[in-house]
Amino acid sequence: MKVFIGFLFTFLFTIQNFAQTLNPFHQTLANQVSQSNILQHLTDFENFGVKTFGSQEEDEALNWLISFYQSMGYTDIETQTVSAYGETGSNLIVTKTGTVYPDTYVIIDAHYDTINGPGTNDNGSGTSILMELARIFANVQTEYSIKFIHFTAEEWGLIGSQQYVDEVVIPQNLDIRLVFNIDQVGGVAGMNNNKVVCEKDIFQPHGNDSESAQITQELSNCISLYSDLGTVTDIAYGSDYIPFQDAGYVITGLYEYNESDHPHTPTDTLENMDPEYVFQIAKGSAGALAYFAKAYQNMGVNDSDLNRFIVYPNPADQLITIKAQPTNQLKQISLIDFSGRTVFQSAEKLDRDLIISTSQLPNGNYILRIDQNSYKIIVQHK
Ligand SMILES: [Zn+2]
Repeated sequence: MKVFIGFLFTFLFTIQNFAQTLNPFHQTLANQVSQSNILQHLTDFENFGVKTFGSQEEDEALNWLISFYQSMGYTDIETQTVSAYGETGSNLIVTKTGTVYPDTYVIIDAHYDTINGPGTNDNGSGTSILMELARIFANVQTEYSIKFIHFTAEEWGLIGSQQYVDEVVIPQNLDIRLVFNIDQVGGVAGMNNNKVVCEKDIFQPHGNDSESAQITQELSNCISLYSDLGTVTDIAYGSDYIPFQDAGYVITGLYEYNESDHPHTPTDTLENMDPEYVFQIAKGSAGALAYFAKAYQNMGVNDSDLNRFIVYPNPADQLITIKAQPTNQLKQISLIDFSGRTVFQSAEKLDRDLIISTSQLPNGNYILRIDQNSYKIIVQHK
């Protein structure tokens, strides 16, 4: 939960949709969000008890998260020790490498420490959503790298995220496309929870404000496209994106529209929130993560063909890459435009990745042929 001091006004206004179109592949990802998985994660989170920064309960929740990411096949799993006020806890950082921009990160984050209660809304809700998205994205290719970050010590004053920014982000000069923070999106039991607040940056430094407004608009559009929820925009404040914004990075976030009274009390439990609302937010967030990280599908015609090739990105802008698949035999590779004209032709052993430039090709649909396999490729210049 966040307490906003310093302004006496809040502004809310409805966002109008502009032409950000539904991506069918991103929709299939959003539709993979499972209500029962969300419910299971919320229940497990609640059962760990009060996960105060530095407590054994928090440590048990950390180990549960690590085991979860391992079971999903993630291998780049790091913890960062966070120390403050004589206590010690850990941030958890799980990285999925992008295919086109491996050194540029989309960060999606949620704190997992709680205070005075089990924190099933604040912030079991955000924690559960990250876990469900990590499951769905485990085997999906994205152009940008994704970091799933579970911060500690948020409730003690954004300490975990501040130490991550101070000790990792700034020293390593991390190239971060945006920070997408999810905190307290559990809703209120018995209410009609049909809207979510999309949060944008209005604070100093102001150099990142217009980009934050832009991506917050895009987040809002994704929520509309991939969930049943409506959106409003409001100010980003009082959660783990703030240390990033202070350092000049572009941030956005989600927060519940009907604000619960239970966070930071022993009654912040599943029965006082709305798990169907968390499910809807997870769907919208899956669409948004797919959009921000540019998730794409390998468009093999013969999907059951075990010998199919990995071709990315699709749509392509400057180039397409065919992943190496070494063999002794030459493979006949060609790229054919919509009129049937061959625009690229080569015979390759594919003992290394083959990169084909698409920078000179007009936008449109193409067929890539590798021996008898055909792939539909879209060239779309940015
Ligand atoms: Zn919180």
